[in-house]
Amino acid sequence: MSYDADNIFAKIIAGEFPAHKVYEDETAIAILDIMPQAAGHTLVIPKAPSRNLLDAKEDDLARLMPVVQKIARAAKDAFSADGIHIQQFNEAAAGQTVFHLHFHIIPRHEGVAIRPHSGEMENQDTLAAHSEKLKAAIAKV
Ligand code: 5GP
Repeated sequence: MSYDADNIFAKIIAGEFPAHKVYEDETAIAILDIMPQAAGHTLVIPKAPSRNLLDAKEDDLARLMPVVQKIARAAKDAFSADGIHIQQFNEAAAGQTVFHLHFHIIPRHEGVAIRPHSGEMENQDTLAAHSEKLKAAIAKV
């Protein structure tokens, strides 16, 4: 299957759809997941188009992973996490629901289970507060 530019993350990258954006550079954006599996659940989305990891270009992946690392480090600090869970789904059979490559960054705390994938929408005020916390931590890493 090929990349379809008419996906929600392409629209967010283009600024045509709102999101709590916590980071942007020439390679990628990072936004809060609208249905977080834990507080601070963030998506790192490359600007280069690909459906997922399987059709991504090696060079684009090489530029993307340092951004994933940067946001993971900041999320660990911002949410005082014990660990960071990285998720990445490829095609519907594997749970992918938005077909533009993205990495999930989920702060984890010892003994605390995460909520279901694509579960409940988070309150906008909570997302706004989490966004400020994360932006402050990103500025320090
Ligand atoms: P996937 O299953 O494709 O790996 O995950 C897509 C993720 O995007 C899900 O965790 C879902 O909650 C999130 N999501 C879906 N639509 C939107 C949206 O419009 N805005 C944001 N910020 N997240 C979204």
